[in-house]
Amino acid sequence: MPLHEKESIRENVLDDIYSSLALSVALPKYKMPEQESSHRNIYQLVHDELMIDGNARQNLATFCQTWVDHEIHKLMDECIDKNMIDKDEYPQTAEIEKRCVHILSDLWHSPESKNPVGCSTTGSSEAAMLGGMALKWAWKEKMNKQGKPTDKPNLVCGPVQVCWHKFARYWEIELREIPMEGERLIMTPEEVIKRCDENTIGVVPTLGVTFTCQYEPVKAINDALDKLQQETGLDIPIHVDAASGGFLAPFCDPDLEWDFRLPRVKSINASGHKYGLSPLGVGWVVWHDADALHKDLIFWVNYLGGNMPTFALNFSRPGGQIVCQYYNFMRLGREGYRKVHQACYDTAQYLADGIEELGCFDILYNGVGGIPGLSWTLKKGIDPGFNLFDLSDRIRSRGWQIAAYAMPANRQDLVIMRILIRHGFSRDIAGILLSDLQHCIDYFSNHPNGQHSDEQESSGFKHS
Ligand SMILES: *Cc1c(COP(=O)(O)O)cnc(C)c1O
Repeated sequence: MPLHEKESIRENVLDDIYSSLALSVALPKYKMPEQESSHRNIYQLVHDELMIDGNARQNLATFCQTWVDHEIHKLMDECIDKNMIDKDEYPQTAEIEKRCVHILSDLWHSPESKNPVGCSTTGSSEAAMLGGMALKWAWKEKMNKQGKPTDKPNLVCGPVQVCWHKFARYWEIELREIPMEGERLIMTPEEVIKRCDENTIGVVPTLGVTFTCQYEPVKAINDALDKLQQETGLDIPIHVDAASGGFLAPFCDPDLEWDFRLPRVKSINASGHKYGLSPLGVGWVVWHDADALHKDLIFWVNYLGGNMPTFALNFSRPGGQIVCQYYNFMRLGREGYRKVHQACYDTAQYLADGIEELGCFDILYNGVGGIPGLSWTLKKGIDPGFNLFDLSDRIRSRGWQIAAYAMPANRQDLVIMRILIRHGFSRDIAGILLSDLQHCIDYFSNHPNGQHSDEQESSGFKHS
């Protein structure tokens, strides 16, 4: 064997990874290399690059799960080859998905929970598309029967998550989104009724509004629509976007009527990967009963063995997230979900009190009556020497991601900061965040007008 080959074998086997020849050059990033490389080296490079991503658990802007227990890691690994669409090959995964739909249907008080109608999705966005399509198809059939045109459907909602803007555009539906006015940051029955007519395919209240974390008043909307029907004959259904609230209210607010207890609620979506506590990639949609899901939307496929109904935008999809949803249901039970979420609510309220005490903020939402989270704005009439965008930027130097953003129409003047408290965010960590916020405020007051600090001071965050 020529000496240079021996050398290269030796290198592959023995060298420290960072002193190896392979890692002495940068990877070609936008073109596929011609040749193979060692898995050990490339793994290390990819692994290292991911280190530059933020620390997910310090991202306080996301609603999504960033902490899962050890067993979930194991189950995800064990399920890596499971395709949930392949119900013939993986009958137990299919069975587990079905059980989850039963559990949710029961949790949300469907009268049909023994024979539920629903499915898993990739998240609430896909689930919202399916719920919205069912509304559109039901409306079209109703209009066709009356011999009326079906070219101008509309959907009434409050300040919604972007998935509803997508739904409206993709399926050519006019979105009648109720703007915020003054102190009113969510929909009210009066504002909903004003926008309803015979072309309204449905009303979508959000249980846990993205911008403010509040629950929209589903029962009051339901009752106002009842009254509208008595007065005008218009029969308008509700789909609840319960992306977060669908996994919170049943445990922490069991008397709140927002679900299938209300007869107008025909379908509900929720994100398993948010307060459902499952890893990223699972959502759910459940219908009140089989009549709420038009049969034309269901496709039957026979090429996977058996004859299987499918209603989803995707075909192949990983099964692990669904299995982990089931694991959580069994592992935690109602008691566990209540305790996990209650701990988050308590921490949100603790943080809201602490942030109020910092002196320069007004708390807009303190974690009561919605999602476990909080939001605040700068106190009016004071000049603390920074705005919330500056603060968001500064707190990032400790790894915290706290979004500062302007409200949607018509309150674009209102800039807030919002934090979501999720499973895995302890009281102890909340204390560290408070002290980091205090340090930021001190920093801004010591360096007015963006004046630069000397090096020693700017190292900041000295916890004495
Ligand atoms: C997160 C969210 C969505 C989108 O859900 P994904 O699971 O991220 O697709 C839709 N609506 C509301 C209210 C949300 O909070």
